[in-house]
Amino acid sequence: MSNPARFAVIGNPITHSRSPEIHAAFAQQLAIDLDYRRLLAAEGDFDEVMRAFFDQGGRGLNVTLPFKAEALAAADVPSSRAQLAGAANTLWRDAAGRLCADNTDGVGFVRDLRENHGQAISDRRVLIIGAGGATRGLLQPLIEAGAASITIANRTVAKAQALVDCVDDPSRIGWCALDEASGHFDILINATSAGLSAALPAIRFDHLIGVRCAADLIYGEGAKPFVGEMRRRGVPLVFDGLGMLIEQAAESFAIWHGQRPDTAELIRSMAT
Ligand code: NAP
Repeated sequence: MSNPARFAVIGNPITHSRSPEIHAAFAQQLAIDLDYRRLLAAEGDFDEVMRAFFDQGGRGLNVTLPFKAEALAAADVPSSRAQLAGAANTLWRDAAGRLCADNTDGVGFVRDLRENHGQAISDRRVLIIGAGGATRGLLQPLIEAGAASITIANRTVAKAQALVDCVDDPSRIGWCALDEASGHFDILINATSAGLSAALPAIRFDHLIGVRCAADLIYGEGAKPFVGEMRRRGVPLVFDGLGMLIEQAAESFAIWHGQRPDTAELIRSMAT
């Protein structure tokens, strides 16, 4: 019997990653034999560890913090969405041995929003709080999904402003300081890491009108401050980043295996 194809998620730290259990569940569902592990790289060693993995027969790598920008820089064939996101989370080698890179985070979020939560994006006004790597990855997929406008509100306002050119149609992007965000928004996305310190971003929620959907990109415990606040304020649809995590993994899985797994049951079982 031949050895199963090898895949891994590389990051630092990496012990918390749920990618192995997600990919194992997809593989079981589609009867694909694979070996998917966690791979720790010291900062500064990403390139060496990544290339050794592929040289030793590895088929695909997911990339998590803090290596997503390095993963993009290492690629011979980056996708346009990875280039616009300035980061890659999915690597593989093509038949010619070239390192290919994609970014599935943004499309994973859009898919969770639309398919799993039934939330239309077309013609909707979106407010994103935070201007880090995750926000950058969301912008182009939200524009492609037809968002009427996207406003980025960030503590460090210059970082929000700098993201305007990370889409092919900057006319639909605006920015402001956290406490300046106000007006009508249909969809509110918390893409800050504030929840990891059990904090809420200092936005003036009373100044936001018409929010029908609020999502935190963090999942589990860290999402509780924002998710709890949005529910208290009566936002009809509120959810955390678990669906995004599973959907971005499904997109990577489809790139590597040519088959897209069903995600609904896994989202249900991991949420409980
Ligand atoms: P990042 O690049 O480090 O950016 C963090 C952002 O949060 C910055 O805009 C920062 O503002 C802001 N921030 C941090 N603490 C804050 C506070 N107390 N109040 C207000 N703003 C605060 O992080 P990232 O890569 O964009 O990731 C953001 C979050 O998304 C992470 O927590 C991550 O877990 C989550 N995420 C989830 C998924 C998923 O699959 N579910 C995927 C990607 C990311 P400044 O610019 O002012 O510092």
